[in-house]
Amino acid sequence: MIIVKTDLQIEYMRLAGSIVRDTLLKLEEVIKPGMTTAELDKIAEDYILKCGAKPSFKGYYGFPASICTSLNSEVVHGIPSKKIFLQEGDIISVDCGALINGYNGDAARTFAVGNISKEAQKLIDVTRESFFQGVESARVGNKLTDISSRIQQYVEGFGYSVVRDYVGHGIGEQMHEDPEVPNYGRPGRGPKLLHGMVLAIEPMVNIGDYTVKVEANDWTVVTEDGSLSAHYENTVAILRDGPEILTWSK
Ligand code: MG
Ligand code: MG
Repeated sequence: MIIVKTDLQIEYMRLAGSIVRDTLLKLEEVIKPGMTTAELDKIAEDYILKCGAKPSFKGYYGFPASICTSLNSEVVHGIPSKKIFLQEGDIISVDCGALINGYNGDAARTFAVGNISKEAQKLIDVTRESFFQGVESARVGNKLTDISSRIQQYVEGFGYSVVRDYVGHGIGEQMHEDPEVPNYGRPGRGPKLLHGMVLAIEPMVNIGDYTVKVEANDWTVVTEDGSLSAHYENTVAILRDGPEILTWSK
């Protein structure tokens, strides 16, 4: 069941969204070679708590940290660790969620660690832009998979692939609500988009094949062929006047 939000509920979600956005901006400022992913997790958790929010991911199905940190060929759900040191040339996808006043925000970015290859930078740029392409279709009266199809078309135009096994989602009082928001598929399908729907739109893009597998820790998702992967996500409210990105600002 898709839970359509009232304007007041969306106002609450703006606050949750701004905390997630600011947490990611903070991490972007400090990320550098030599840091551990556990340090990033601590910075994020401290900031979220300081804002009076809760890190939504911590304890979610037993997830042990406040952010997911996925390096290079890791797609999503990487676990921060004191043993994982960032190295020059890495790319790191950070996924972050915060809960405040009963509502969630959810967003992800892929960051460069120091200088990265042109190929890695292009992957990050295409993944980010594919999100904004998708958002263009997140309009009242469109169908859900108009978003999906646009993301897929854009990504595949560069010879990259979109992950199929993990998808975006509705969001609100629960971090994951209906509907699922795939990043692939034919347009014109699924529910009609209504004023007040809030979706986490989150393309996961691989340089190689779209197939992925889960590592032995039962969390970390990696590309099956070992190719690089990037992730870009925002919480988006579909409003009469057009989409509003609750976890982003220029
Ligand atoms: Mg997320
Ligand atoms: Mg999400």
